[in-house]
Amino acid sequence: TERTLVLVKPDGVSRGLTGAILARVEAKGYRIAALAQLTPSRDLLAKHYAEHEGKPFYEPLLEFMESGPVVAAVFEGERVIEGFRSLAGATDPTAAAPGTIRGDFGRDWGLKVQQNLVHGSDSVESAEREIGIWFPA
Ligand code: ATP
Repeated sequence: TERTLVLVKPDGVSRGLTGAILARVEAKGYRIAALAQLTPSRDLLAKHYAEHEGKPFYEPLLEFMESGPVVAAVFEGERVIEGFRSLAGATDPTAAAPGTIRGDFGRDWGLKVQQNLVHGSDSVESAEREIGIWFPA
C-alpha cells in the first residue's frame, strides 16, 4: 500500500487543531500507520527540507518548524499521497480553497513563512525518504 508522511506543523498543534486535521484524513478513508509528537531538531529539519536550502524562506521555515511540537503521522491507502495533498489545499493558506485543511483553518499571519498547518509528501520517493527521517528504524 502507498504511504505518505503527514506533519501537523507547530501552528496546527498550538492552535489545538491536531485532532480536527487527523480526523479529516481518517474520515476520507486513510489509515494511521504511525503517529508521534516531537519538537524537531535543526538536524532533522535540515534533512527534511534539504531541497529548499538557500531559498529566502528557508531560515524562517526552519525557525518556525522548531518553535514547538509537531505531530508526525504515516498514513496509508491507495493513492494517499495525491489524496492528502488534495485535502491539504494550496501552499498559501489565504488562496487555498474552502473545504481544504489550509483553506478552512489557515490564513496569512504576516510572517516570512507560510504557516500553513500541514505538510504532505509529494511523491513515493519523497514519502519513503521523509518517513525514514521522522520514523527512523
Ligand atoms: P508542503 O511540502 O509543506 O506540504 P508545499 O509542497 O505546498 O507544502 P513546499 O514548496 O514544499 O510547499 O514548501 C515547503 C514549505 O515552505 C511550505 O509548506 C511553506 O510552509 C514554506 N514555503 C514555501 N514557499 C514559500 C514562500 N514562497 N514563502 C514563504 N514560505 C514558503
